[in-house]
Amino acid sequence: MSTEFWNLPAINECTSIIYKVGMTGPPATSRGNHFMATRPFFSAGVWTEGRGMPLESRNPATGDVIEVLSSASAEDLDEAVRAARQAVAAPSWADLAPHLRARMLHKMGELIDRDRERLAHVQMVDNGKTLAECRALLESAANTFRYYAAACETMEGTVPPSRGAYLNIAVDVPVGVVGAITPWNSPATLEAQKLAPILAAGNAVILKPSEVTPLIGLEYASLAREAGFPGGIVSVLTGGIELGRAMVSHPGIDMISFTGGTAGGRHIAAEAARQLKPVVLELGGKSPHIVCADADLEKAANAVAMGIFSGAGQSCVAGSRIFIEKRIASAFTATLVGIARSLRLGSPADPGTHLGPLVSFAHRDTVHAHVSRAVAAGANLLTGGALPTDEKLAAGAYYPPTLLNGLSNRSDIAQQEVFGPVGVILTFENDEDLIAQANDSAFGLAAGLWTRDIERAWKIATRLQTGTLWLNSYKNLSISTPFQGHKQSGLGREKGLDGLRQYLQSKAIFWPA
Ligand code: NAD
Repeated sequence: MSTEFWNLPAINECTSIIYKVGMTGPPATSRGNHFMATRPFFSAGVWTEGRGMPLESRNPATGDVIEVLSSASAEDLDEAVRAARQAVAAPSWADLAPHLRARMLHKMGELIDRDRERLAHVQMVDNGKTLAECRALLESAANTFRYYAAACETMEGTVPPSRGAYLNIAVDVPVGVVGAITPWNSPATLEAQKLAPILAAGNAVILKPSEVTPLIGLEYASLAREAGFPGGIVSVLTGGIELGRAMVSHPGIDMISFTGGTAGGRHIAAEAARQLKPVVLELGGKSPHIVCADADLEKAANAVAMGIFSGAGQSCVAGSRIFIEKRIASAFTATLVGIARSLRLGSPADPGTHLGPLVSFAHRDTVHAHVSRAVAAGANLLTGGALPTDEKLAAGAYYPPTLLNGLSNRSDIAQQEVFGPVGVILTFENDEDLIAQANDSAFGLAAGLWTRDIERAWKIATRLQTGTLWLNSYKNLSISTPFQGHKQSGLGREKGLDGLRQYLQSKAIFWPA
């Protein structure tokens, strides 16, 4: 059993050690067990022991089981949905003025700040990200709640010009009950990005965190209760893909907001279409990070390395296709390999660590299999590509920074999302060649472009098929700026005011004069 988590000073009500001895803990509905063996989830305003198969949360740095969690069955989901439908229609929520909803969202921001250090540790042991990155994620999550608190108070309807003897107004109303389904790579921010706008818009939410990293979602449930959200407005149910599927097909859930892989997104879109259920889908990527010969090459090299290796490459916007202009390719590649070799793999709690473990051993096997297939297909392995032999890393799911070249943009390693610290180096002759290759991808999530030539930057930037483009920078993300994948990278938007409007529907009212 990992001790780093349990020894934290401010452990609150949600510790499975407490549940296991059956002494105290959050109020939970009992399903016959006198002493609960699993950590409950939060449904209909109470901590609930589910009827599904329990889940294990493992620390990928050590392989230890952190907690065993309840999971929700179809009946458990029915109960959460019933409670959400009642709560969203109840005057205590439906009639609450936006500035009062905003207070609860502000309170969530304050509570996340108050518990930031503890939550950062929870995120680290569940996910394997470095502590420094987890702290930053929590800071961003708190700011996300504040941003949507402000947006919620200031959103306005419209009074279009009347074309007859009536006053007509268009107001935005909540969708109802929104099911939010999230992945494992950055749950602290991704779940805040769903909860905050869904609640700001006046909906109820049922969140299903990834079965691989369920802990932060449960912490947010606890904070939502403390922030004053009425019972049933925020439920967090733990469970696997089956629970996600049941949410998508459940007639009592009005909308699905999903972040995850493109394969899952396609299934969800197909199922949701059967019920004409609206969806927001934030999906995968294979983003080009482009370096022109006239760029500031030192800055570009550091940004390209950060773009693929930060978070151990487990980022939807990882710059995993590295395009270098041919005449500088050999020197720039050597610089990149040097940076990759200088990065330190180690315990995520160590401030000197650049890359922690991957999220799980199963995921590490998947990443390694991608690299092995690329090598078998003729790729040159420039660095990395082998499981670490260092004894200190033996217990964790570590994978080194890896760079490959020698294959084309059409190869599997350049077309498929690896979601690990694996960069494929490609070259281009001129801008036409670059644009053709960079756009030759099923995905269109993000891109980076390094050049000092502003005309060239404009021409390339306007022709790249991407939802986000970073010029002479990479991975700047802002809650105030809409984020959207093009092509197979998604449908709909998150963040910004557009991210709030996704969870509202328009209603026109005509009032005779
Ligand atoms: P995943 O698709 O395997 O799972 C994501 C979540 O969806 C989990 O909670 C899972 O239980 C659930 N799920 C999976 N299939 C489902 C289905 N058919 N119906 C209902 N629920 C289902 O993704 P993952 O491996 O957890 O996360 C990695 C993926 O997420 C990568 O592809 C990455 O690019 C993507 N991602 C995208 C963004 C973005 O904003 N575009 C952000 C982060 C991660």
